[in-house]
Amino acid sequence: MRRLILTAAALGAAVLVSSGCGDSAAAPATYDSALDTASRSQQAPTVAMLEALVNIESGPGDAVGLAQMGDYLAGQLVALGATVTRHKAADGTPGDNIVGTLRGTGTRHILLMAHMDTVYPRGFLKDAPFRVDGNRAYGPGIADDKGGIAVILNTLALLNARSFREYGTLTVLFNTDEETGSFGSRELIQSLSASHDYVLSHEPSAASQESFGLATSGIAHATATIRGRASHAGVAPELGVNALTEAAALILRTQDIDNKDREIRFNWTLASAGSASNAIPAVATLTADMRYGRNQDLDAITAMLNERAQQKRLPEAEITIDVLRGRPAFNASEGGQALAARGQSIYNEVGGRIEISNVRIGGGSDAAYAALSGKPVLEGMGLPGAGYHTNADEYIMIDAIPRRLYLGARMIMDLSLGR
Ligand SMILES: [Zn+2]
Repeated sequence: MRRLILTAAALGAAVLVSSGCGDSAAAPATYDSALDTASRSQQAPTVAMLEALVNIESGPGDAVGLAQMGDYLAGQLVALGATVTRHKAADGTPGDNIVGTLRGTGTRHILLMAHMDTVYPRGFLKDAPFRVDGNRAYGPGIADDKGGIAVILNTLALLNARSFREYGTLTVLFNTDEETGSFGSRELIQSLSASHDYVLSHEPSAASQESFGLATSGIAHATATIRGRASHAGVAPELGVNALTEAAALILRTQDIDNKDREIRFNWTLASAGSASNAIPAVATLTADMRYGRNQDLDAITAMLNERAQQKRLPEAEITIDVLRGRPAFNASEGGQALAARGQSIYNEVGGRIEISNVRIGGGSDAAYAALSGKPVLEGMGLPGAGYHTNADEYIMIDAIPRRLYLGARMIMDLSLGR
């Protein structure tokens, strides 16, 4: 919708402006019936591709499967006209992160992401083969995240079919290690996101309630190493410094770091100490699971933990704290929220209903790494499904495929054209 606004600077001249700048308001309804029809025709090829993707087992660290998947995806991208580059994981995870690049005639740079790894070990497929039953297509990893891959590749096929090339750069990233924290691909995600204007991440959405999630928790782990001094527990316990006693005291004096109201969760989850029942333990180690809603809070939690560590019950004990940072917190920026509103509006055009959720999810996604760039990021562009990360049968909703392809194609077209 457009509206007339008179400004003083315009000296009485009527200035026609959009009711919102290109990125901060949902696009007006612009139903594209040709795209709708084409998206419906693309359903069967998408289901066929899902079968091919499910039949390549690509569990965590599966060198054979990830290599096979990388070759398949590179082949698909080349067939769509993309230039493909391969990027080894920074941490030695097997397989290649696959990047496909399409250069267009426009100026906007858009990054599409999905991950090729699943949580299922090799052999799982034998007992849970691909199958279609009514409106559901089943298979290990079919929702998370083979559905995301299929949406991206079939969206590109739709854009090619209508010779749409008005983007500047359209880049596709398929990474190998999302399920294990993306330690080997996070730098690649961050650098690609920084060089693009928009990031669309294709994780699945719950079939029971489709949604774009605007917030996920940051994750970190703290390890406390407590060093004391061994001594015979029966003969001369007072000559020892009991690392286990100090560890127990550390647990108690850090209880108040957990602060649910501030979206900070801090819980000790692993402990070990001692080597024999008759020896004062010289060493103890503790591990804490840390979750946070705001990235600046991680430094505050770490400082609080270090300060508490030095308030020792046994002065001779030594405590060192190591914090391993996992995914940062994701909080959709204004630009990201505008993408969600736009997506919701486009989805409505073809009968789709999708909620925009502010409820913070405890688990993370690669959207969090992408968002460190400050660029607008939208998560949840994959297929609606269920049963992922469980031993229940994982499936996607087949009738959602056309509307998801329509959504994917229209998002790229609108963002490319500055609509
Ligand atoms: Zn996933």
